[in-house]
Amino acid sequence: MTERILNFSAGPAVLPVPVLEEAQRDMLSLPGVGMSVMEISHRSKTFDEIIGHAEAGLRELLKVPDNYHILFLQGGASLQFSMVPMNFLPADGSADYVLTGSWGKKALKEAKKVGAVNVAATMADGGFTRVPSRDEMSLSSHAAYVHITSNETIEGVQWKREPNVGDVPMIADMSSDILSRAFDVSKYGLIYAGAQKNMGPSGVTVVILRDDLLQRIPENLATMLDYRVHVENKSLYNTPNTWGIYILRLVCKWLLENGGLSAMERENEAKARLVYEAIDATDFYRGHADVDCRSSMNVTFRLPAEELEKKFVAESTAQGLDGLKGHRSVGGIRASIYNAFPRAGVEALVSFMKDFERRNG
Ligand code: PMP
Repeated sequence: MTERILNFSAGPAVLPVPVLEEAQRDMLSLPGVGMSVMEISHRSKTFDEIIGHAEAGLRELLKVPDNYHILFLQGGASLQFSMVPMNFLPADGSADYVLTGSWGKKALKEAKKVGAVNVAATMADGGFTRVPSRDEMSLSSHAAYVHITSNETIEGVQWKREPNVGDVPMIADMSSDILSRAFDVSKYGLIYAGAQKNMGPSGVTVVILRDDLLQRIPENLATMLDYRVHVENKSLYNTPNTWGIYILRLVCKWLLENGGLSAMERENEAKARLVYEAIDATDFYRGHADVDCRSSMNVTFRLPAEELEKKFVAESTAQGLDGLKGHRSVGGIRASIYNAFPRAGVEALVSFMKDFERRNG
């Protein structure tokens, strides 16, 4: 098959075609190098330039202040669930976790193994349909940090504006919405995100962290789990995912050539609006998240019966709309429409939804 289908997968997810084309063109030999990026040393001048451009691209897109480091690590966002408390949750301290979905719960589970945690708010009772209001969060002014998940990929619940947590460092899992919109990095102590939704292939995790926090890291951590080691070695303590970092650099270039994050945000809002309008236009489809917390990346909704949801998935897949089945833990339908997902694909989904309702409503 050479035709590309519409890939609604939550991650690994669709990548920009120009990025894939450039990678394909240079697969056998990077210009002037005579080897593919997978065959060169991570200590070579060529790779030094690639990782430098990847970092510069992220810095420019996200307007990362100079007192923040950018790291390219491995182990996925899941390893960050452990690294964050190992580095920043002291034995005599406690950390606040705000739970707005399944990934926040997983982060909490790992933190509990390291030290004391306070669930500052959990939206589990309502089935994770929204983020808490400021009044609903019991934040501690002595917390080592506050952890949030900016976009819950499974439930499709997104913080439209980050909470104000005062002077306590805010740590965010941004795996599924980083680079989808502009935001103020300086409001965060640490941001982490697996690359495989909006930044590149799986196997690279981006960590952005404020320099002064490094002083809080205990002395005896395992080397690979110590952020200081990765800062000091510029993400090259061991062999990084050279291919993943190369693709991430191409994705940054593509974003910069296409108007950066404000243009991306406008386009993402417009794409998401098309699907939410289709959901709201009828009682046949029922959106999962509350209207003001709806994710612009992962649109989640239900049909009147599970049988119909199965049919919806089977028929859409047959028509080249792939990956619409909701996460196995919650069911329903999920359309992941990251940066690289084309608007025409969203229009195809909306027209499929209308047609499906006509035949089954
Ligand atoms: N956090 C969020 C918000 C996610 O969406 C995911 C993956 N879907 C993870 C964490 C886990 O990421 P990884 O598979 O890179 O460990």
